[in-house]
Amino acid sequence: MNVVDAVREAGVVGAGGAGFPTHVKLNAEADTVIANGAECEPLLHKDAELTEVFPREVVLGMELSMQATGAKDAIFGIKAKRKKAIEALEQAASGGPVRTHLLGDYYPTGDEYVLVYETTGRLIPAGGIPLQVGAVVHNSESLYHIAEAVQGRPVVKKFLTVTGAVKQPMSLAVPTGITLQELIDIAGGTTTEDTTVFVGGVMMGSIEQDLGKPVTKTTGGLIVLPTSHTLVQRMLRPQKQMDRIGKSACDQCSYCTEFCPRYLLGYDVQPHKVMRSLGFTATGGENWSKWADLCCACNLCTLYSCPEDLYPKQACDKGKTDRKEAGMERWLGPSQEITAHPMEPGRHVPLKSLIRKLGLDDFNVSAPWVETNYQPEVVNLPLSQHVGAPSVPVVKVGDKVKKGQLVAEIAKDKLGARIHASIDGTVASVNGVIQIKHS
Ligand code: SF4
Ligand code: SF4
Repeated sequence: MNVVDAVREAGVVGAGGAGFPTHVKLNAEADTVIANGAECEPLLHKDAELTEVFPREVVLGMELSMQATGAKDAIFGIKAKRKKAIEALEQAASGGPVRTHLLGDYYPTGDEYVLVYETTGRLIPAGGIPLQVGAVVHNSESLYHIAEAVQGRPVVKKFLTVTGAVKQPMSLAVPTGITLQELIDIAGGTTTEDTTVFVGGVMMGSIEQDLGKPVTKTTGGLIVLPTSHTLVQRMLRPQKQMDRIGKSACDQCSYCTEFCPRYLLGYDVQPHKVMRSLGFTATGGENWSKWADLCCACNLCTLYSCPEDLYPKQACDKGKTDRKEAGMERWLGPSQEITAHPMEPGRHVPLKSLIRKLGLDDFNVSAPWVETNYQPEVVNLPLSQHVGAPSVPVVKVGDKVKKGQLVAEIAKDKLGARIHASIDGTVASVNGVIQIKHS
């Protein structure tokens, strides 16, 4: 079986959060494979831990990706501070085509546009994808799964960091489909009573109130914080309130734009102008919102740049939605010619400064790799945990399944990914989610 078919069979998707089916990415021609090992979300480091523990698999994933796409170059983007992971990686890659590219410790190095520019000097066309500049980008964990796929092992586990207000911050691999609460329990439970959980990071993730939700192929990590923490309180504010404060308090200083990583790369993103849309509640707001269309939702403007603690990122989110609903064409900027801002290298926001600004210094501890052999009683596998159409169940209630067995197939002629049982057991329900009970 060729690499693309093996990866398709195994249900590999982009593990960095987006969940784009990896077999589709591999079924293309590219000259460069880039590993996204940047991992720039504060407090999360499972990719570094994974790379340190499984360097051979990660390197093999890159080599297989080169084979599939015909790429001649393979660059592993990783922060220079990840010394142990780099050592393991370079040893595993020794004598082969994969080389490392050391990244600075700033946010958001993991943004694909930033990563491609940093590692190759190429700028992706506005609104485009890395393939348009000859690159295919995979998250470190996806590379591990590519290597597993060619051995006939499907995706049945998820690598994550669980940290913050938990007794034992750790990075680990667990069966897909366990609950967020089980993850917190594995990490020893919380250190304080009233907590709030960020899934996928404090910058680009979201607050999850329902801890019964399952870990999917794209769950990036868990950060548990006391609910009284300023960051939690800021992010729990309803959008209407965010808008009202922004409308009255924004002084158009434009710091949000000046620090915006996409603006600095040369794309026409200008959140300070989007903030003006908040004043046009009756009509015309969408016209100011066009400067949100190329925003990558990194949240830097809201959580770092704005001196008044306003919400330009959320204004951009709203602006994008409003323009889509109004049927307006996506704004790609005044010119197709993209040139990075001369101040781009000097305006990177150090992760250390970001963590301080977020008030997370006390939680910035190591979350080392822990080998666990957690055996859940029940797993819930959503049919939609990837980009594309929901998968189609191939099992029914009462069926006995084995770990690694196919339970849902890609919908016919649609973009999607297969889903496999993550434990041995019996199918208990099939209704948007396949529930398997251990037996
Ligand atoms: S940084 Fe804050 S105050 Fe300044 S323009 Fe942006 S949203 Fe307005
Ligand atoms: S969230 Fe803010 S800083 Fe980030 S890309 Fe969008 S506008 Fe720029």
